[in-house]
Amino acid sequence: MTALQDARDLFGSLTGRAPEGVWSSAGRANLIGEHTDYNEGFVLPFAIQHRTYAAAGMRGDGLIRVASTFAPDAVELRVADLEATFGGAAGSAVAEGRVPEWAAYPLGVAWAALAAARREAGDVAGVDIAIASDVPIGAGLSSSAAIEGAVATALDTLWDLGLEPLDKARVGRRAENEAVGAPTGIMDQVSSIMGRADAATFLDCRTLETRSVDLGLGREGLALLAIDTRVKHAHATGGYGDRRAACERGAAALGVPALRDVAAADLDRARDILDDVTFRRVRHIVTENQRVLDTVGVLSASGPRAIGELLVASHASMRDDFEISVPELDLAVETALEAGALGARMTGGGFGGSAVALVEVEAVDVVAHEAARAFAARGYTAPHCFTIEPSEGARRDA
Ligand code: ADP
Ligand code: MG
Repeated sequence: MTALQDARDLFGSLTGRAPEGVWSSAGRANLIGEHTDYNEGFVLPFAIQHRTYAAAGMRGDGLIRVASTFAPDAVELRVADLEATFGGAAGSAVAEGRVPEWAAYPLGVAWAALAAARREAGDVAGVDIAIASDVPIGAGLSSSAAIEGAVATALDTLWDLGLEPLDKARVGRRAENEAVGAPTGIMDQVSSIMGRADAATFLDCRTLETRSVDLGLGREGLALLAIDTRVKHAHATGGYGDRRAACERGAAALGVPALRDVAAADLDRARDILDDVTFRRVRHIVTENQRVLDTVGVLSASGPRAIGELLVASHASMRDDFEISVPELDLAVETALEAGALGARMTGGGFGGSAVALVEVEAVDVVAHEAARAFAARGYTAPHCFTIEPSEGARRDA
């Protein structure tokens, strides 16, 4: 509730008026399906209770002005100049210092939203947008998709753009790729915008088919506990690039457009063709895609208690085959399982960040306590444990 109020207050101090409305979108976490997105495979993320709010209202002078509690100064631009600002080389407005990086997210969304709706700058009014968030920034919970989803949803209403949820996700990705200059997939935006309470969003990253998948955690008395290791690995970026390259190498050697097209039954042949490292990278992607499909199937056939083994197998695959875990993440997973979690795995790109554990609601405190104890015993920085609740995606709040 407070971030919503912060957005309203910021709008008030920016304009001296009340906003016409407040819109928001969620942060996200991934239940299963890691590094499968750029292999055109499957992912199963969910929106979380942490949200970014955009309080917004129109103005008569053709300016778009954005402010955030995260940044000291508001940034303004003529709507008519959005295309000249962001239509050039990806990220150039930020790289050349014409727009502060944070402002390229909301302004880039405005630019991409107009293009997606095939509207001219002259057709729409100016706007003021004030942003506040309780999504931790840069913590792997996708504050970037949350700000994109909130602004896209606000502008969709104020400018009457008629965008569907998937259009808004595409707008967010385009803003991030082209206005900010960050090459990311579309999973974050889809899960931020399209999430539902107590559900995950299945996404086929090739076809962009989406499906809401009931989790049933509430019914079963289960919770998801995030164990943030506080580790930010120095070579996360290099490691990511290296894994992507290995996947492309594997796909090329196997003669398929993407590893999505390799079935588990093809792995024996892959072992003969590929070197050991490339083979293990490929095996992670192939088995992880299958685990996402299996998780969706098991959830509907048997409910959430039955997915624990799939989460554990996913972690083992990332640890041993894809080699993106770190000792802190392995310890978080092992400790959670020893303390009674039904399943646990690292989540996100790897080399640090958080693990997610599936636990009985009554066991949340015990698992968090045991994780803290195990980290202290190894001399690691104390982990930050908090529950993450599968929540509603983009919406209007006021
Ligand atoms: P993550 O998405 O994991 O939180 P990213 O690096 O993708 O991390 O996105 C974080 C960036 O998004 C911030 O550095 C900032 O530029 C922008 N951003 C996110 N939330 C806000 C906000 N509430 N106000 C302003 N900018 C934000
Ligand atoms: Mg992000």
